Amino acid sequence: MQLRIGNGYDIHRLVPGRPLILGGQTLEHPAGLGLDGHSDADVLVHAVMDALLGALSMGDIGRWFPPEDPRWKGADSLVLLEEVMALVSTEGWTVVNVDAVVVAERPRLRPHIEAMRAAIATRMGVAPDQVGVKATTNERLGPTGREEGIAVHAVALLQRD
Ligand code: MG
Repeated sequence: MQLRIGNGYDIHRLVPGRPLILGGQTLEHPAGLGLDGHSDADVLVHAVMDALLGALSMGDIGRWFPPEDPRWKGADSLVLLEEVMALVSTEGWTVVNVDAVVVAERPRLRPHIEAMRAAIATRMGVAPDQVGVKATTNERLGPTGREEGIAVHAVALLQRD
């Protein structure tokens, strides 16, 4: 059996006038902020996709879904995740698990974690217990601590017989 690990990182700016979508869930930010980006800016799903692509050694989401391509404007990142999963299976791999940590001061993510895990797992075609999502603040330090953005770190483990 072969195993491959990949890691992914992404950060998007918090700005007024945009929705805040994390793990396919539209959340309310107490200051009315949302994530800026060419697609729906779902930074959690982006980091998971980069972890999967990293495990495949097949580049990153910028290569597969270039921001200058109008097809991805406003794209639902969960649909892009399905595309990445198609690559995973085409290459003969299955997912052991993915795990992600969202770095955000606000809003409080705990009430939404299960819905995020379920949405990601459904699109990946895996069980919810194969998808870990955790949240932490950055103790008000740095760009995430100042609420200039939300960042996500993710890892993915793949197996092939
Ligand atoms: Mg991104």
